[in-house]
Amino acid sequence: LNQSLPSDLQQRIRVCVRKRPLSRKEVVNGEIDISELVGAHTIKLNAPKSRVDLTRYVEQHSFTFDEAFDGNTSNVDIYYRTARPLVHYVFGGGKATCFAFGQTGSGKTYTMLDPQHGLYIMAAKDIFEMLEDPSYRHLSASVGFYEIYQGKLYDLLNKRKQLIPREDGNNNVVIAGLLEYKINDLAQLLQIFDFGSQCRTTGKTGANDNSSRSHAVLQVLLKDKKTDGIHGKLSFIDLAGSERGADRGDANPKTRMEGAEINKSLLALKECIRALDKVKKHTPFRGSKLTQVLRDSFVGDSRTCMIATISPNNSNSEHTLNTLRYADRVK
Ligand code: ADP
Ligand code: MG
Repeated sequence: LNQSLPSDLQQRIRVCVRKRPLSRKEVVNGEIDISELVGAHTIKLNAPKSRVDLTRYVEQHSFTFDEAFDGNTSNVDIYYRTARPLVHYVFGGGKATCFAFGQTGSGKTYTMLDPQHGLYIMAAKDIFEMLEDPSYRHLSASVGFYEIYQGKLYDLLNKRKQLIPREDGNNNVVIAGLLEYKINDLAQLLQIFDFGSQCRTTGKTGANDNSSRSHAVLQVLLKDKKTDGIHGKLSFIDLAGSERGADRGDANPKTRMEGAEINKSLLALKECIRALDKVKKHTPFRGSKLTQVLRDSFVGDSRTCMIATISPNNSNSEHTLNTLRYADRVK
């Protein structure tokens, strides 16, 4: 890990797209894969469109990202191209954030926070290995896990206690009272993660609705053992389902409100990431609780990686197109 990284992995902002395979159910329902990878960077979408006269025609869209991954790419391979450079970077004393953005069911959690093969697990393995290195013996790792739902922050490691984030004047965001657990090995991390996961928002429409309306943030802090000062910070973020932002036209007041909040936070996020690349551009952190909390990830020389996850099937074409457009605008 200490070896120097290829320069294309050291960009300040990396935006990748990942398409998942068709599910068994989609295959059984006769759905087809309308997306196609062309080379390592480009994804083409053959989106079916209904015309007013009800005949269908296909609209072709093409998007180019820093990298495009298909349904056969494993989380391990994706880790090497996305989160691993960030691990490297935080050991150097920086702040980095890895986001999964996309429609519910497109693979955000599978990519980021899956308890078996999420990117955070591979990152943790590398982090513990690095901490053994004599040059990093002075550091320790700790973890916090929280959720942002309806513009409010809940500590998942402390019975969903609601917390208020503050800025400390040094470009650090302090979430006063957030529990942080020191972790010494992977088993400890997994245990804490499992504990926190059980505290996530559950929608009343059933298990399917869990978590798609909130943003989950798992943050790993590297701290100096002597001073307890923050050396580096790496955040893994499983964003709310992007299609939820469209619920703002919903007839149900509760989902409408949730949708408006999600829409607001995803728009603010896009603007904050876009501002990263610009010199002295105003960064609209205060646009949402999400971006306010992530403020320190958008200032200074921070690193950001966004993985836009898409479903390949035709009936999700509209959401897929929206996801690709969003990711395209972030760049
Ligand atoms: P999201 O978090 O975006 O709502 P999930 O991560 O829960 O979506 O993924 C939806 C379903 O698709 C899950 O059953 C998951 O295991 C499966 N899945 C997602 N991505 C992949 C992939 N790349 N390969 C295989 N299965 C996947
Ligand atoms: Mg999910």
